Amino acid sequence: MFPRLLIALIVVIAVFAVMRSARARLGARRPRVLDAKTVQCERCEVYLPRNEAVVRDGQHYCCEAHAQERDPKP
Ligand SMILES: [Zn+2]
Repeated sequence: MFPRLLIALIVVIAVFAVMRSARARLGARRPRVLDAKTVQCERCEVYLPRNEAVVRDGQHYCCEAHAQERDPKP
Protein backbone atom coordinates (compact mmCIF):
# COMPACT_ATOMS: atom_id res chain seq x y z
CA MET A 1 0.00 0.00 0.00
CA PHE A 2 2.63 2.50 1.07
CA PRO A 3 5.04 2.02 -1.87
CA ARG A 4 2.15 2.42 -4.31
CA LEU A 5 1.22 5.75 -2.69
CA LEU A 6 4.84 6.84 -2.81
CA ILE A 7 5.06 5.97 -6.52
CA ALA A 8 1.83 7.89 -7.21
CA LEU A 9 3.24 10.91 -5.37
CA ILE A 10 6.49 10.77 -7.36
CA VAL A 11 4.51 10.53 -10.64
CA VAL A 12 2.40 13.58 -9.69
CA ILE A 13 5.50 15.60 -8.79
CA ALA A 14 7.18 14.57 -12.06
CA VAL A 15 4.12 15.62 -14.11
CA PHE A 16 4.05 19.01 -12.37
CA ALA A 17 7.76 19.49 -13.00
CA VAL A 18 7.38 18.68 -16.72
CA MET A 19 4.38 21.02 -17.07
CA ARG A 20 6.23 23.79 -15.32
CA SER A 21 9.34 23.52 -17.50
CA ALA A 22 7.21 23.33 -20.66
CA ARG A 23 5.33 26.47 -19.62
CA ALA A 24 8.62 28.26 -18.87
CA ARG A 25 9.93 27.32 -22.32
CA LEU A 26 6.76 28.60 -24.04
CA GLY A 27 6.92 31.86 -22.11
CA ALA A 28 10.52 32.39 -23.12
CA ARG A 29 9.69 31.80 -26.79
CA ARG A 30 6.74 34.22 -26.87
CA PRO A 31 7.71 37.40 -28.71
CA ARG A 32 8.19 40.40 -26.46
CA VAL A 33 6.87 42.71 -29.17
CA LEU A 34 3.34 42.08 -27.90
CA ASP A 35 4.27 43.67 -24.60
CA ALA A 36 5.66 46.79 -26.25
CA LYS A 37 3.42 49.83 -26.61
CA THR A 38 2.06 50.43 -30.06
CA VAL A 39 2.05 53.72 -31.94
CA GLN A 40 0.25 54.83 -35.08
CA CYS A 41 1.96 55.97 -38.26
CA GLU A 42 1.09 59.62 -38.92
CA ARG A 43 1.08 58.98 -42.66
CA CYS A 44 -0.77 55.68 -43.27
CA GLU A 45 -2.27 55.21 -39.77
CA VAL A 46 -0.97 51.65 -39.40
CA TYR A 47 -0.22 50.48 -35.85
CA LEU A 48 3.25 49.19 -35.04
CA PRO A 49 5.41 48.60 -31.96
CA ARG A 50 6.96 51.80 -30.63
CA ASN A 51 10.48 50.34 -30.74
CA GLU A 52 10.12 49.71 -34.52
CA ALA A 53 8.72 53.14 -35.37
CA VAL A 54 10.65 55.96 -37.06
CA VAL A 55 10.33 59.12 -34.94
CA ARG A 56 10.43 62.60 -36.51
CA ASP A 57 9.59 65.75 -34.51
CA GLY A 58 7.82 63.62 -31.90
CA GLN A 59 5.62 61.94 -34.55
CA HIS A 60 5.78 58.21 -35.26
CA TYR A 61 6.03 56.65 -38.72
CA CYS A 62 6.02 53.03 -39.88
CA CYS A 63 9.02 53.47 -42.17
CA GLU A 64 11.65 55.93 -43.32
CA ALA A 65 9.72 56.67 -46.55
CA HIS A 66 6.63 57.79 -44.64
CA ALA A 67 8.77 59.86 -42.27
CA GLN A 68 10.21 61.70 -45.29
CA GLU A 69 6.88 62.37 -47.00
CA ARG A 70 5.61 63.86 -43.77
CA ASP A 71 2.85 65.90 -45.37
CA PRO A 72 -0.34 64.03 -44.42
CA LYS A 73 -3.31 63.40 -46.67
CA PRO A 74 -4.85 66.55 -48.21
ZN1 LIG B 1 3.13 54.59 -42.62
